[in-house]
Amino acid sequence: MKTVHPLPDEASVVPVRQPLITVEKLTVDMPLGRSGSSVRIVDGVDFTIGVGERVALVGESGSGKSLTARALMRLDRLAKLSGRVDFDGTDLLKLSDRDMGKLRGSSIAMVFQDPMSFLDPLMTIGDQVAETLRIRGIGKAEARKRALAVLDELGVDRAAERLDAYPHEFSGGMRQRVVLAMALVGEPRLLIADEPTTALDVRVQDQVLDLLDDVSTRRGLAVLFITHDLGVVAGFAERVMVMYSGRIVEDGEVASVFAKPSHPYTQGLIKAVPRIDQDLNTLYAIPGAPPPPLARPSGCPFHPRCDQRFDRCGVDLPALQPVGMSRVACHLLDGKGA
Ligand code: SF4
Repeated sequence: MKTVHPLPDEASVVPVRQPLITVEKLTVDMPLGRSGSSVRIVDGVDFTIGVGERVALVGESGSGKSLTARALMRLDRLAKLSGRVDFDGTDLLKLSDRDMGKLRGSSIAMVFQDPMSFLDPLMTIGDQVAETLRIRGIGKAEARKRALAVLDELGVDRAAERLDAYPHEFSGGMRQRVVLAMALVGEPRLLIADEPTTALDVRVQDQVLDLLDDVSTRRGLAVLFITHDLGVVAGFAERVMVMYSGRIVEDGEVASVFAKPSHPYTQGLIKAVPRIDQDLNTLYAIPGAPPPPLARPSGCPFHPRCDQRFDRCGVDLPALQPVGMSRVACHLLDGKGA
């Protein structure tokens, strides 16, 4: 059973921060086999993450959240990217492959869902954590020393003794700490965490979240946390961006979005979170499924599933527009008669 975190206190809203990464009109097109044509998975996404800010990116599978995050690091070689990704004054989409390679791990790092598929079973933990530093030309002894320091920081028990151990000798939770150490050893300023706790049991999941919370606070690290679990968002993030069908449909402080979601899709996601006191027979699910990218409906892509749709919804695509401190893409904001 999933841990149900309490909703955050509305008073805990954080002030606006200095931007670290600013994404403008980002699109991601993926090729369709060898046909020469492509399909748009991410469709004009705009957002900013501040220095040290913890932002969650949520949505159902296929919403484009992982591809958005991977595009920031240009991890998918076949993906065609357009728009602008400004990191500390540099457009990452214009960097050479070589310069982008240098930036990965040192300025922006990423952790993934399944640590075992990310770790090399034939390499020691120490060598794997030190590898990012070795690639940057740091000597073996110094790289090993820093690897040990970060493993210690992340609470890996008897880290000095275990530098020469192999991944299969670690538990799932400890392997996720090692993967986190690999990401953090280069002292990045932005960590992208793609469902890093999904493959873990609830107890270990909470430990890893506490650890991420500690380490991001201590280091002033910004985190983009991708998840479909709103309980995790409530427990970890300051701001939440909701994605649907390749677009951001709501973006705001976690406390205010959870207390008063504006977009019908966000309302549905929150309604679908099980509560401890809830009768299992009354569990809610948003009807239908997200559209495949090749068959997006006209107008608002959520309209076939939306219980608040009206005539305009099937025709016009709603733009993401400011609403108080949030941004929302829904025609309801303009009134049904507009
Ligand atoms: Fe629903 Fe219309 Fe708003 Fe889309 S634009 S979420 S269909 S009300």
